Amino acid sequence: MHIHIANRGSDHFLKASYPVRVGIYTEVATDSSILHFNLNQEIIRAQGTDGNWPHPQEWLQRTAGNDWVYYSTGGYTGVFETTGEYYLPNLPYITNNALGGSPLHNRTVAALIQSWHPSLLALQAAGDRLPAEASAFLANAVRNDPLHLARRAQDLFAIIGGRPSVLPPDSRHVDYRVIPLTVCRGCLYKCSFCRVKNDTAVTPLSRREIDGQLDRLVVYFGDELANYNSVFLGEHDALLAKPELLCHAVEQAHARLGLADSAIAGSNVFMFGSVGSLLGTPRKLFAELDALPGRIYINLGLESADQATLDRLGKPLTSAAIRHAFTTLLEINESFPSIEITANFVIDDKLGKNHYNSLISLIRDGVDRTRDKGAIYLSPLRFDSPSRARLFTFYELKRHSRLPLFLYTIQRL
Ligand code: SF4
Repeated sequence: MHIHIANRGSDHFLKASYPVRVGIYTEVATDSSILHFNLNQEIIRAQGTDGNWPHPQEWLQRTAGNDWVYYSTGGYTGVFETTGEYYLPNLPYITNNALGGSPLHNRTVAALIQSWHPSLLALQAAGDRLPAEASAFLANAVRNDPLHLARRAQDLFAIIGGRPSVLPPDSRHVDYRVIPLTVCRGCLYKCSFCRVKNDTAVTPLSRREIDGQLDRLVVYFGDELANYNSVFLGEHDALLAKPELLCHAVEQAHARLGLADSAIAGSNVFMFGSVGSLLGTPRKLFAELDALPGRIYINLGLESADQATLDRLGKPLTSAAIRHAFTTLLEINESFPSIEITANFVIDDKLGKNHYNSLISLIRDGVDRTRDKGAIYLSPLRFDSPSRARLFTFYELKRHSRLPLFLYTIQRL
């Protein structure tokens, strides 16, 4: 057994074709596995090291919502081009992934999810001559058993008023490692195609409610705050919150969660917006957000620039409004260095030619030159039917696009 306490990983989220561990963590290595723990002694990663593990560069990661996600290389073929990341998160629930297999069903992988805690108990029992620091670590880590971790996730959801059903695609830049803070519940359109919406009417929270969440989040994350440099302002349309409330949330999240002082350089704010909230937001707010600390990512669900497709999706908007939002997004990205607005469009074999032609006309003809800001995410409409064959449409659109273009797999907290 080898225990390395407070290992310092990278202070940046790097996009690399090899595993990069970010932040501060403790490593416990045995002859059959490597386990990583956060600063609250909760398990966050696990990897088998015997010959049965699927790939030496792949690992399991546990999210703040207590999901075990398997990171695979996808054979290093096309993963980066399609997702913008070198590793493919394989999720333990049904989603709209276009890539990936079922590594979580692999016997060795599934066994490690079950066996890490009994292994830790066995190590603790065998380690009677350990240094005091290692013994103290093991005692705490053993207390954080699977049941306790499941309860902790429920506590987190209770603080913010429910589990976020989806995280913005831009949060891939920090490997979805975000502290959730709800600023506005519900969404404007309740589109019929959408699988992540809730029934809640649009309800911005008060300054007091936001501050109350922050107080509880500080206590909840405790020492582990040092490993977070990003916040997700939920739920589905944070841009609907009043400008002063949004600025307050960004400022206070930085001040109280210490985002800019974490072990990871830079800080980020992620949120969703919508056509209505973007077009209704005074330009002044973007100037104010731009002046605040951190980089701000706002992701919009535009879905289609074709009226027949919008009608079919049950998105109550006109194609003219979608085009207006798209040109506004380009202008804002051009004018404010710290703000990046990105947009989602749907893809599916069953959508008509006009959907794809209108999309090409936006991302090729509507953009005067190639830009590296303002990514477009293509979101498969179908759930749980990954198929590399369907990537043909994706590559065709990518070839035309003057904006970065990636696939969007819906991932929850
Ligand atoms: S796509 Fe966005 S606006 Fe439409 S129902 Fe889903 S969350 Fe709401």
